[in-house]
Amino acid sequence: MTQKILGLLGGMSWESTVHYYSHINRCVRDARGGLHSARLLLHSVDFDTIATQQRQGDWAGAAQLLGQAGKGLAAAGAGALVICTNTMHKVADEVAALAGIPLLHITDPTIAALQRAGVSRVGLLGTRFTMEDDFYRIRLQAAGFQVHVPGAEDRAEVHRVIFDELCLGQVLPASRQRYLAMIEALRADGAQAVILGCTEIAMLVSPADTRLPLFDTAQLHAEAAAAWLIQA
Ligand code: GLU
Repeated sequence: MTQKILGLLGGMSWESTVHYYSHINRCVRDARGGLHSARLLLHSVDFDTIATQQRQGDWAGAAQLLGQAGKGLAAAGAGALVICTNTMHKVADEVAALAGIPLLHITDPTIAALQRAGVSRVGLLGTRFTMEDDFYRIRLQAAGFQVHVPGAEDRAEVHRVIFDELCLGQVLPASRQRYLAMIEALRADGAQAVILGCTEIAMLVSPADTRLPLFDTAQLHAEAAAAWLIQA
């Protein structure tokens, strides 16, 4: 049986795209055995272009760029698309429409995993766009979750660490302590678990660091991608 082909929009940042690539392949190998691996097409963008568009609020430009890239992946044979970042799901609908193929949304496997764990009040860490704009929280709230985010000063710090450190491959102990203190504050605020709603955060904090369960969106998204590839 020929395996389907999945298109990845990556490079946002490439530090986390690497984890998507390895995790999807690991899942496919574990499911199918032997030398099997994932049939993937990757369009890895220059993240500086996307990050500039984010800062300037040019979401339409970013949607065009990713949508055209997605269209290219579809033309090359991809049957579905994965955007390897939480933030750029702000333009997920536009990207899917331009590409003309289904998109595996990052919040779907995250919501399913939270529901399986019986969580109803959840903390959210991510870029300021993911924590503050509607596009992400609205999907969690529609699924019945109460969403907790850090205060304004802490949100700015979470955002800064993502762009100034993690996306550049820097994992600093001081930033880990800041994040863990914020996770503890979310717990005190009533959160039963925390969504690592940025694909680089698992580089910094891991389940062993905290008593709150952590839901790593990059890992859950990669597993959903592999499941799509494996299903007949
Ligand atoms: N990878 C990050 C995320 O999951 C941030 C990079 C971006 O802005 O796309 O949101």
